[in-house]
Amino acid sequence: MRTSRFKIFVRATVIVFIIYMMIAWAWNSMTNSNFWKPWEMAIAAAVSVLFYGGFSWFVTNFGMGLFFGRNPEYRAYRNSGGDPFFDSLPWLFNPDSETVRQSGMVEPDTDFVPPASWQFHCPQCNARVQHRVDVCWNCRYGQDSDNSAYFDRYGDVRPPEISEEKWAEIKERQNG
Ligand SMILES: [Zn+2]
Repeated sequence: MRTSRFKIFVRATVIVFIIYMMIAWAWNSMTNSNFWKPWEMAIAAAVSVLFYGGFSWFVTNFGMGLFFGRNPEYRAYRNSGGDPFFDSLPWLFNPDSETVRQSGMVEPDTDFVPPASWQFHCPQCNARVQHRVDVCWNCRYGQDSDNSAYFDRYGDVRPPEISEEKWAEIKERQNG
């Protein structure tokens, strides 16, 4: 699972608070005063993160929606809980691995390591698979022609590499 947005907010606030405290300490020792107090720095840190983070979040999501809103890859990513702002934050704020950022789940620990060219993820166990709608080599998901986990996770979006006919066939199997 992706690190929760609340946790990322707390991490960012703590980091900004530490930076503010260093500035406050420098200021207070330079002027020999006690002007900036820790609780003021804490509030300022939370407000800064909310304001700048919120603004960046809005710009990122609005921009990505504008350019990629109709892209099936992007819609599938959004349907799986992805957020282009949170998933692109550096490690300090968001400690998730690349796989978790892309798919929201960790890859299972297996003896077989799928080739790098396998870019898709099994909707059930998250093992990397060759084709998007496929029989999974790891958990055998898809073997009984049940693709409901795919729809649960990615929504009703036809992936670009699957033809209209094949997609209709998959959906037919699903509903029938
Ligand atoms: Zn699987």
